[in-house]
Amino acid sequence: MKNQLFIDGTYCDAASGEVFDVIDPSDRQVFAQVARGGADDIDRAVGAARRAFDTGPWPRMSGSERGAVLRRMGDTIAARRDDLARLEVQDNGKPLPEANWDIDDTAGVFHFYADLAARLDNSAEQDIPLAMEGFTSKAVKEPVGVAGAIIPWNFPMLMASWKVAPALAAGCTVVLKPSELTPLTALELGEIANEAGLPPGALNIVPGFGPEAGQPLTEHPGVDKLAFTGSVPTGSQIMATAARDIKTVSLELGGKSPLVVFADTPIDEAVEWIMFGIFWNQGEVCSATSRVLIEEPIYEPLLARLAEEARKIRIGHGLDDGVLLGPLVSPSQHEKVLAAIERGKTEGRLVSGGGVPEGLEHGCYVQPTIFADMAEDAWIWREEIFGPVVCVKPFTTEDEAIRMANDSRFGLAAAVMSADLDRAERVARAFRAGIVWINCSQPTFTEAPWGGTKQSGIGRELGEWGLNNYLEIKQITAYDRSRPWGWYLK
Ligand code: NAD
Repeated sequence: MKNQLFIDGTYCDAASGEVFDVIDPSDRQVFAQVARGGADDIDRAVGAARRAFDTGPWPRMSGSERGAVLRRMGDTIAARRDDLARLEVQDNGKPLPEANWDIDDTAGVFHFYADLAARLDNSAEQDIPLAMEGFTSKAVKEPVGVAGAIIPWNFPMLMASWKVAPALAAGCTVVLKPSELTPLTALELGEIANEAGLPPGALNIVPGFGPEAGQPLTEHPGVDKLAFTGSVPTGSQIMATAARDIKTVSLELGGKSPLVVFADTPIDEAVEWIMFGIFWNQGEVCSATSRVLIEEPIYEPLLARLAEEARKIRIGHGLDDGVLLGPLVSPSQHEKVLAAIERGKTEGRLVSGGGVPEGLEHGCYVQPTIFADMAEDAWIWREEIFGPVVCVKPFTTEDEAIRMANDSRFGLAAAVMSADLDRAERVARAFRAGIVWINCSQPTFTEAPWGGTKQSGIGRELGEWGLNNYLEIKQITAYDRSRPWGWYLK
């Protein structure tokens, strides 16, 4: 297990010599200590990334050469899937089948951007027809420079890949700051990069706390671009800091995403997707469908069936067979979610769950929890809880459902279920959200754009849009010297 900073191709201690504890949320025990990155370490990491960008081989290699390195990184991640997934379970708490899926996805992200890097060799230049004779012009895509990437704890390795793979594909160099709660799988990327032949300095990883390592990375003048996934307050602070040096920012923030279920949906189909939408990954998913709107005729029967199925979910250690709900990531997240549930009990009807499961008090476990009948201005209906807690309300007309769905400061994701595909398409277009699912909720594809509207963020990750985050466009215009310009010198 790697537990040091990774700077300029080498694992090393923090300049301060300090470490921090990493806990296993299934029993709250410390199982690792990791070097505690600070401002000096960020400065060293940015220095290494700067040199690698300004004078190193990485941005000067062809796209297909970069693609070959990324492909090898993806191959190693796929080959090490078992140990990486188990490390993810210990660090984050999620059930093993979900961790396996995350690691497969992580390998897939590196493979996808390996292909896009190679494709840049033919698509990085575009001729621009000009209205004036004597000139030719082209637009050339170039890497932005040094990218600072700050990521959360809910999909530790996958979130790292969403930023590192496209940034490297574009020819950028990177300083990655993983979450202090889940730094371990991201740290493995250093060794994986070295084995794949990534030049030193192209990827640097500095674990540490937000104010100690994240803030200095945000402020560092050697960083050209910041990519952040996390909460709205931190995103807002990063954007404000980045404004000082006019750094480019992309932000993937929170959500309170709605799922609208029309009465022509079979009840079991709705139950399946509502549960996948909110209980998968313990509900610690930015796009989780945490608000469910159900058309009146099926409201009560669907709610009853949902509660029945939610009570059956096997809760336990992520490595135990059949477990579909692990512990939340940390004691502080556990406290936060339990406090939100207590508040919910004063604002709505508790339909099921509502506390710590019996016999699992030693870990950060929470029951799958369903609230109904809260007011539209209730705190639990409006604010992100980031746990296995869903709020359910009835609606009577399509217009009412759309109005309630869009009545949020967030706009990350939304979903609609109906047998009438024309209606589903109409509602999908009426949602103010960056990601919309029809007759499902949550499946995420590396090829498709990901990101939010309103306070859910700026920019899009994944797909070709993810690569564009790390590319600048330069205009190169040339003049035909055989034609004297003749403005001053007639
Ligand atoms: P957070 O904002 O507390 O932390 C995210 C990262 O930012 C961590 O690495 C943290 O150390 C760092 N950070 C904290 N303060 C900082 C500062 N002042 N300067 C620079 N970096 C700082 O969020 P979290 O609790 O780790 O994650 C949960 C949140 O992330 C939720 O609100 C969720 O909606 C959001 N999220 C969004 C997406 C998405 O794709 N939109 C994905 C996952 C999580």
